[in-house]
Amino acid sequence: MAQDTLVTEYNGKLECITPMITEEQLQARIKELGAQISADYAGKEVVAVAVLKGSVPFFADLIRQIELPGLSCDCLGLASYGSRTESSGVVRLTSDLSRPVAGKHLLIIEDIVDTGLTIQYLLQNMETRQPESIRICTLLHKPAGERVKVPMDYVGFTIANEFVVGYGLDYDERYRQLSYIGTMKFKDLPEE
Ligand code: 5GP
Repeated sequence: MAQDTLVTEYNGKLECITPMITEEQLQARIKELGAQISADYAGKEVVAVAVLKGSVPFFADLIRQIELPGLSCDCLGLASYGSRTESSGVVRLTSDLSRPVAGKHLLIIEDIVDTGLTIQYLLQNMETRQPESIRICTLLHKPAGERVKVPMDYVGFTIANEFVVGYGLDYDERYRQLSYIGTMKFKDLPEE
């Protein structure tokens, strides 16, 4: 069912979120990704890595669509500096994996790839730990924002160059709880 634009007054502005990818579309695509990942890794031991915090809802839904007895899960935290709606590419690890991954098949689960700088940093960092393989699964890809080429093995949706929130993606730590992805625009409050 199509949802209406969500309008919230916050800090003297109107924040308008217009649905772009519905909950049904997200779940259908995640089912397809889970089937593809299950087939590609059949018989292998895989460590699925959630990149906190944005990928949490996607990660939770995706792992339940992966049928691999050898699947284990871990997470790491990244912080990137920049404005609230543009990434700077300066990334730092805020929390690390709980176990070594040498010799393991790593599947990194990301919320969105925009400039590619975050994934580039993560790949370089993970490669030093000598896993057997590394693949990237991102829910969203914004090709128009690309500054570096990064290999993406699984992509949920390719989207236009707009700022999106919901389903894990935030604006100032808000809107992560939405069950859909929406584009976010700001408007001035009407004059009294
Ligand atoms: P990249 O390093 O590829 O430019 O961006 C990766 C990170 O920037 C994402 O993990 C996410 O935290 C943030 N980001 C990029 N585009 C968007 C967007 O449209 N909405 C939100 N909420 N975050 C974004």
